[in-house]
Amino acid sequence: MTRKPPDHDIDESQLDVHQPKTWAAGLPGVLVSTQRGFEQMGVTRTVRTLRLLNQQHGFDCPGCAWPDPQGHRKLAEFCENGAKAVAEEATLRRVGPEFFAAHPVAELAGKTDYWLGQQGRLTEPMVLRPGATHYEPIAWSDAFGLIAQHLNGLSSPDEAVFYTSGRTSNEAAFAYQLLVRSFGTNNLPDCSNMCHESSGAALNQTIGIGKGSVSLADFDEADLIVVVGQNPGTNHPRMLSALEQAKGNGARIVAVNPLPEAGLMRFKNPQNVRGLIGKGTPLADEFCQIKLGGDLAFFQAIGHLQLAEEEAAPGTVLDKEFVRARTHGFDDYAKSLSEVDWDAIDEATGLSRNQIVDVARAFAKSERTIVCWAMGLTQHKHAVATIREIVNVLLMRGMIGKPGAGVCPVRGHSNVQGDRTMGIWEKMPEKFMAALEAEFGIPVPRKHGYDTVDALRAMHSGQARTFFAVGGNFVAATPDTELTEAALRSCELTVQVSTKLNRSHVVPGDTALILPTLGRTERDERNGVEQFVTVEDSMSVVHASRGRLAPASEHLMSEVDIVCRLARAVLGAHHPVPWESFTSDYDLIRERIARVVPGCSDYNAKVRQPDGFVLPHPPRDAREFPTTTGLANFTVNELEYPHVPAGRLLLQTLRSHDQYNTTIYGLDDRYRGVKDGRRVVFVNAADITDFGLRDGAFVDLVSEWNQAGSVVERRAERFRVVEYPTTRGCAAAYFPEANALVPLDSVAETSNTPTSKSIVVRLEAVA
Ligand code: SF4
Repeated sequence: MTRKPPDHDIDESQLDVHQPKTWAAGLPGVLVSTQRGFEQMGVTRTVRTLRLLNQQHGFDCPGCAWPDPQGHRKLAEFCENGAKAVAEEATLRRVGPEFFAAHPVAELAGKTDYWLGQQGRLTEPMVLRPGATHYEPIAWSDAFGLIAQHLNGLSSPDEAVFYTSGRTSNEAAFAYQLLVRSFGTNNLPDCSNMCHESSGAALNQTIGIGKGSVSLADFDEADLIVVVGQNPGTNHPRMLSALEQAKGNGARIVAVNPLPEAGLMRFKNPQNVRGLIGKGTPLADEFCQIKLGGDLAFFQAIGHLQLAEEEAAPGTVLDKEFVRARTHGFDDYAKSLSEVDWDAIDEATGLSRNQIVDVARAFAKSERTIVCWAMGLTQHKHAVATIREIVNVLLMRGMIGKPGAGVCPVRGHSNVQGDRTMGIWEKMPEKFMAALEAEFGIPVPRKHGYDTVDALRAMHSGQARTFFAVGGNFVAATPDTELTEAALRSCELTVQVSTKLNRSHVVPGDTALILPTLGRTERDERNGVEQFVTVEDSMSVVHASRGRLAPASEHLMSEVDIVCRLARAVLGAHHPVPWESFTSDYDLIRERIARVVPGCSDYNAKVRQPDGFVLPHPPRDAREFPTTTGLANFTVNELEYPHVPAGRLLLQTLRSHDQYNTTIYGLDDRYRGVKDGRRVVFVNAADITDFGLRDGAFVDLVSEWNQAGSVVERRAERFRVVEYPTTRGCAAAYFPEANALVPLDSVAETSNTPTSKSIVVRLEAVA
């Protein structure tokens, strides 16, 4: 399979490449934030909009899920990438019917993701009819009628797939899963399947809840913070403020990552003079430049060394009382790590023994340790085992349910955690299903549905025929681009509920619909009464978000409205769920959330508190572990790591600094020194030499996947080699451009998450 570059006017041979930055944010961050705002919204609207961002009376950032401070908020409570996200949504550019009349779908399909995103906000529902070359307008009622006709014409509800992106509010997500389950299926894949599913799987098994156990306040108390497989400078930039403050309080920071990302090294906080024009704050005290996929070995080594230290000086490392009273399986774990294969650890991590010993000592000495991670851990074959090893290392020292300590999987999309809480999951627990059934008096299917990977397989094989997405850009978010596109094109109907034009709109089924929706920034009025929605951040804080701007078009509907109207069209007017009242007053949805979703009692009152409320988390709150054993579980994990054949590299996909998930804000990656281009592959200088290449050469990236004994190749054409200080043997390229290289069948064990951080590739020089 070969992925050609889109027709575009970006010429990577003209790329401007500079030395990577060794610090993040500062004055350039402020300048870029304002410049992007001015370009998209003009000066006045930029000022007005940014003053509402992440404020108690304003709207939640549509970017990542980093929490807001409790109590007082600063005037500018956002980061550069939050400002960019808002500028993209509140843009004054518009994509109306005249745009679609002027551009056939085939032409749009040849444009870059950046070009598509820059066209502006969608203004009216559009349909692409079978055999048509252009989208054309369609009335909302006709659009709902068309979808209902398709859905009700399926042989089984399981032939439909209902995807959700992490921007969807709690109210829309709750109504959406209710519609889907009322329709008769649990086919509810979401973007979490591709990111933190591995975290959820590991944490559910070990501590009994698939969410992080720390709060923002814990960062102030921690004395050791370990950031693994994460690039906070780009993906969760306000985390840098928390790290800076922790540093100020005396915490030691250890960064474990294949790339020396600017945001791990030094932070120039734009909120103060020292940050704006001074040197800023150094962050990582220790940088472990690990090989891709070497983290399981790293944490096993840490565990082994801690156990050895305890044996040498009993009572100095283990929290014996916690281990005895609150955990299960310690003896097996300790026995499994009594000996480790140091040769394998050296090979897997690429780190020096001294460095590992030094970090192990820091763990052993720390009184309050937080371990944070993101996609660098979760998108590997052995991701779940790796996260279980992190839990092992923390449990032996009693670091869960203690101030200043715990696990911190950092979520990358603003409400991805809330959507899961509200029931967006293909295998919600029985307790939730029974409560839903009792509350609404409807039968709820119990058969597990498709996650993202299985949904793609089902669509590709013809077992699923309708695809409906609330938000997101499915084609750009998923692996194996050729297969994903074929899967969508084979559907009889594809529906995208979207704010802006994206790649998924130009990869249509036989019939395709675009349903334009309100963004977070926009006022949502029902019968003259302003509504608000709620979201949950990475640390389980649920709070309100109130859009204040006038909608981009009078034809937009809120996601709640779209879901509820569709429900009436599909399920009929006599369905027991009061869909009509739900759309006129979101409090009525929240009343039902309060009765169905654990931890949400009195929801309407609690989300009206200025900072919202924190969902219960038994391990954090009371050192109670709702696992199968009733205790926190130690686990024994085989040592695994990627084995890369000679002459090949291990490639990870990652974001540029001008990108948020699949949204491309611009063509620069300031921190990595790349300007005006995206089809680049970052390669270590020694690897470039070994492969007989040179910095600036062009190559095809060819992934090799062993399938049933034969090697299947996937090719992404024409990437420019950029010499970069990444770990030897480990390369990197941006997604979605490199997604074409990730085989659909290459997934993490247990979580089924595509292994986008672990792709064996060869580089083939091209002219
Ligand atoms: S850190 Fe995340 S939530 Fe906060 S402003 Fe930046 S992108 Fe938005």
